[in-house]
Amino acid sequence: MRQADMVVIGGGIAGLSHAARLAQHGTVVVLEGESAPGYHASGRSVAFAHFGLGDAIVRALTALSLPDLAAPPAEGHPALAVRHPALHIARADEVAVLDALEEVHRQFGCDNVRITPDEARALLPVLKTGPEHCHAALVDHGSLKLDTDAMLAAHLADLRAHGGTLVTGAQVSAIKRQGSGWQVAAGGETYAAPLVINAAGAWADKVAQMAAVTPIGIEPRRRTVISFAGPDSEDVSPWPFTKTVGKGFYLLPEGRGQLIASSMDQTPSDPCDAASEELDIAIAADRVEQATTLPIRRISHSWAGLRSFAPDELPVIGHAARAPGFVWCAGQGGYGFQTAPALSLIAESAVLGLPFPDDCAEAGLSFAMFSPARLGA
Ligand SMILES: Cc1cc2nc3c(=O)[nH]c(=O)nc-3n(C[C@H](O)[C@H](O)[C@H](O)COP(=O)(O)OP(=O)(O)OC[C@H]3O[C@@H](n4cnc5c(N)ncnc54)[C@H](O)[C@@H]3O)c2cc1C
Repeated sequence: MRQADMVVIGGGIAGLSHAARLAQHGTVVVLEGESAPGYHASGRSVAFAHFGLGDAIVRALTALSLPDLAAPPAEGHPALAVRHPALHIARADEVAVLDALEEVHRQFGCDNVRITPDEARALLPVLKTGPEHCHAALVDHGSLKLDTDAMLAAHLADLRAHGGTLVTGAQVSAIKRQGSGWQVAAGGETYAAPLVINAAGAWADKVAQMAAVTPIGIEPRRRTVISFAGPDSEDVSPWPFTKTVGKGFYLLPEGRGQLIASSMDQTPSDPCDAASEELDIAIAADRVEQATTLPIRRISHSWAGLRSFAPDELPVIGHAARAPGFVWCAGQGGYGFQTAPALSLIAESAVLGLPFPDDCAEAGLSFAMFSPARLGA
């Protein structure tokens, strides 16, 4: 039996970012079922941070997190993010949505400007303009291209520097209440701790059920990404992250000659090792070809990952009712990286019973917004 103060289940961005903070307060063991951290959603994101998704709460979490993500790295460490423009485009019938998004950018003091369709095409030379494609546009120069591998590695290094441990190949198979704490069986070992943190992403409800904790209705949704070559010999790396404000697609550069895109699909799925499907790949390619002059001759590769949502699409952070010491850290949706600094700060306070972080409270956030109690759990 291995004793710890806190056992974190899940070695994705949620589990590792929370564990790194918690390790400053006691011994932390992270249990990851796969052979490496970040195998599931956290290894499959498109690694961008912007204000074009989520509601006011998600955007407040994003605004609180951007300075940490953009901070200069410690000597000898890679940067976690670099500034990269985000171009938000609207058809003629979507201008009101773009207006609302412009207001959001203004509210958060972003370095943004409304631009004409021709100016948008100057940024993305393959963009079609006109009422059916790009009729109005907004560019945010403060968005960030994230280095998600560097983020995971930095949290893992932090965890270890504070004496914490990541155990891979440790698939949690049973959780039971023992005295005033919990016993967690994983990978042939049993771990005992007064606090168990459920950061199991798409599997968060399944992990709760192992502990006889009421599930919260986490819905994993599959999203597909395609990768293809840009126009011959053109350096596409300065092209902006380009996203339609409504249904449509997003497109962003991946290195000098390669582009990635998604139709922003979100197909409900069981928790699983998600794989891209032919139809979703075809839809993504078609959306890009409809909106741009890009011919997609060959898909170089594609992948899919699960974005996991609570019923109200907000993260769930807090102690489960009637299960002392069992803490939810789930439902990071499509913004788990861009909100990780703020969410891990809130999780640290929730797990340890500390006051709600001042800067998060000043941004209008509260424990109640994230508490599982709001979902009847
Ligand atoms: C295509 C795509 C694009 C995205 N783009 C962005 C983006 O641009 N910006 C952004 O901020 N976010 C983005 N996201 C969302 C982001 O990737 C997720 O919000 C984030 O990765 C969720 O992290 P997590 O740690 O909760 O989940 P995961 O990374 O899935 O981690 C959960 C871990 O728990 C482990 N686990 C589960 N059950 C058990 C068990 N019984 N025992 C032990 N371990 C267990 C799993 O193996 C897994 O490693 C994107 C997601 C997808 C799929």
